[in-house]
Amino acid sequence: MQALAARQFKPVPHTLIIGAGQAGLSAAAELRKRGYEGDVTLLGAEPVPPYQRPPLSKAYLSGETPLERLWLKPAAWYDKAEVTVKTGVRASAIDRAAGEVITQDGDRLGFDHLILATGGEARRLDLPGADLPGVHVLRNLAEANALSAALESAKRLVIIGAGYIGLEVAASARKRGLEVAVLEAADRPMARTASPLLSGWFGAVHRGYGVDLRVSTPVAGVTGEAKADGVALADGEMISADLVLVAAGLCASTHLAEAAGLACDDGILVDAQARTEDERIFAIGDVARFHLPRYGRSVRLESVHNAIEQGKAAAAAICGVEAVYDPVPWFWSDQYELKLQIAGLIEGADQMVRRGDPEEGKFALFHLLNGRLIACEAVNSAPEYMAAQRMIAAGSAPDPERLRDQSVAMRDFLS
Ligand SMILES: Cc1cc2nc3c(=O)[nH]c(=O)nc-3n(C[C@H](O)[C@H](O)[C@H](O)COP(=O)(O)OP(=O)(O)OC[C@H]3O[C@@H](n4cnc5c(N)ncnc54)[C@H](O)[C@@H]3O)c2cc1C
Repeated sequence: MQALAARQFKPVPHTLIIGAGQAGLSAAAELRKRGYEGDVTLLGAEPVPPYQRPPLSKAYLSGETPLERLWLKPAAWYDKAEVTVKTGVRASAIDRAAGEVITQDGDRLGFDHLILATGGEARRLDLPGADLPGVHVLRNLAEANALSAALESAKRLVIIGAGYIGLEVAASARKRGLEVAVLEAADRPMARTASPLLSGWFGAVHRGYGVDLRVSTPVAGVTGEAKADGVALADGEMISADLVLVAAGLCASTHLAEAAGLACDDGILVDAQARTEDERIFAIGDVARFHLPRYGRSVRLESVHNAIEQGKAAAAAICGVEAVYDPVPWFWSDQYELKLQIAGLIEGADQMVRRGDPEEGKFALFHLLNGRLIACEAVNSAPEYMAAQRMIAAGSAPDPERLRDQSVAMRDFLS
């Protein structure tokens, strides 16, 4: 009888997730899928439920996708899944000793497991004029709405940074009829993750669409009195603008973890189950840095795929399933009528094989290391990309000549 009473009054465990984004939602959904019987709370600083970020620089910005299409789950899902979502609530500290998170309003929320899915914020420039009105960044819905509203009346947009987001916004803004200049300090666009051939090709595409894309062009500051009216280049040239977008990458939101004494190094350091050094606390998605066995290096991946899968890995570990998280990273980007899909990590490759003709706007670049396929960049070439994903996962060492030969079907590499 006593044992029964003790069982009945055993407190329900609570998994608290900070960050109601792609990764946080994935973890919450996976906990339920695995039959987790505790409470699940998603705490989000933004005033809206979880939504997709990729369209913010693409179809949402160009006006093709409405707001309703951004939500990751319909409102009814949260009730049904018994996931409590607290929007507009920012966590301000973690009290590890007490096992509590303190919100900006001073509320204390206890946890048995804590998942940090805090993503990151758009990097701002530490340059004169960078905080003038008319200077935008793009990471969240509010910023996308502000940028979109400003694009309505603007004629000339200057984008600082030719990474994926900068180039996607350039394409969306050209669709909306704006004049666009893109300024990049590195010697090629998308330099951090794309191969030189792909960078050069995308650069030419943008120029073909009328974008004034300049590489090796560091910026000295933003000009203007009450509002941004241009960008000053390091060489003294001035470029006029009605609107400036700083697209200079992401700063991972590690401050909560750092203040709580958890190890961070451009990301919260986690193991193969997304666990920090505190076994109750996990970190997932854009904010997490982990060792990727497949590539033998430490990575912090900024992609929807990683946010979803690492969220699942953390949920599995909380449910007692300790699998090693070792994904083949993948990512996509839409610019104009082009779909770029990248599988794997290119860095370190010692051979590149081209399949298809870039002139035709449809080709794939396969990257090999010691004969093994480690990455593929595919432009409007879904079969090549999909096959490559599986080949990388399997550790395939395809014959480069056959890979190049378009008369050999990609499925032939999978058998
Ligand atoms: C414009 C844009 C385009 C993109 N395009 C692509 C693409 O084409 N393909 C692709 O694979 N990926 C793309 N990405 C990247 C992808 O969206 C991210 O990798 C993914 O959203 C990461 O999910 P996350 O949950 O880790 O972080 P996020 O989605 O950023 O979610 C983190 C959430 O945590 C909240 N938060 C932070 N701190 C606190 C706190 N203290 N208290 C409460 N809440 C907090 C934030 O407000 C945010 O809502 C794009 C990103 C952007 C911004």
